[in-house]
Amino acid sequence: MRINVIYSGGTIGMIETDTGLAPGADLRGWLNDLVSRRPEIGDVTLTEFPTLIDSSNATPADWQALIDALWAARAEADGFVILHGTDTLAYAAAALSFALADFGKPVVLTGSQLPIGALDTDAHANVVDSLKAVASGRIDSVALVFGRSVFAGSCASKWSSWSFEGFSSPNAPLLATTGAPWQWNDVERRRNNAFAQAKPYVAHDVVVLDLVPGISAQRVDSVLHPRPAAVILRAYGTGNIPAREQGLVEALAHAVDDGVEVIVSSQCTQAQVSLGYYEAGFALAQLGAVSAQNMTFEACYAKTVFLLSQGMRGEKFKYWMEESLSGEITNTLRSR
Ligand code: ASP
Repeated sequence: MRINVIYSGGTIGMIETDTGLAPGADLRGWLNDLVSRRPEIGDVTLTEFPTLIDSSNATPADWQALIDALWAARAEADGFVILHGTDTLAYAAAALSFALADFGKPVVLTGSQLPIGALDTDAHANVVDSLKAVASGRIDSVALVFGRSVFAGSCASKWSSWSFEGFSSPNAPLLATTGAPWQWNDVERRRNNAFAQAKPYVAHDVVVLDLVPGISAQRVDSVLHPRPAAVILRAYGTGNIPAREQGLVEALAHAVDDGVEVIVSSQCTQAQVSLGYYEAGFALAQLGAVSAQNMTFEACYAKTVFLLSQGMRGEKFKYWMEESLSGEITNTLRSR
């Protein structure tokens, strides 16, 4: 098997500098050494991005650079591993899941909490597991490997800034748990090929607004001026907002009238947004707000940017937001 490793940055290849951790390690030498001792993995090549970044600096243009690199190298490899910073790894994995519906080869993203130079680094385990996941032949789309778990690319979330098991899949089963032997789960992912040959990611003005006890209608309204393309409300529980705050629902209604897409996500890591289940969320349902259902926040954000990049607005945006594209929604409310 031919596996192309694409190195885009992140802690994994960082070294200590006077101004904190920054790219600079000999990742090529490290990887060569790692694979030379594991011939069963196959032929591994490395593509290093010219500018290695801390993934905190990633934008939708960086997601697109990964997608372009994958398409450019598609014929030369049977599968791909992407080395990426962990901070926005779940966003990138979700973004790639939506855009690569028609890619047809395994793509596994990973990173590490500690650089390769640290004695007790988790990089070895994560990279070897990623290579093995690709080589297994059991992954046919985008996945994320971290801390002995294999996640569907659009279902992972970084829950810990320090744990070697720093990612979770709050709403969907793991694809596999690594070990001796690996335990694979037969996960049926609700996928849709409607966006094959996806248009490139372009940045969009998407506002994310956390609701907190005491937030004023004026504050919400001010965040919505000038008008963004979309706002993701991080509401409470099943999608509830302080609807009794005078003027708050009106501020959202005016934004909807002006063409702003209003998406309702939850502050709960594990959530099933169900607008109108409580009176406190009913107004959002009446406004025609979009329910994030049980998508992770990272998937919700990446999907919003994806659909805007595909030119989806209004009813079409709402339809596709509420339809699973790559298994990011596991429990739909839409009747079939
Ligand atoms: N700040 C780093 C990054 O996301 C964190 C990491 O890789 O663990 O690039």
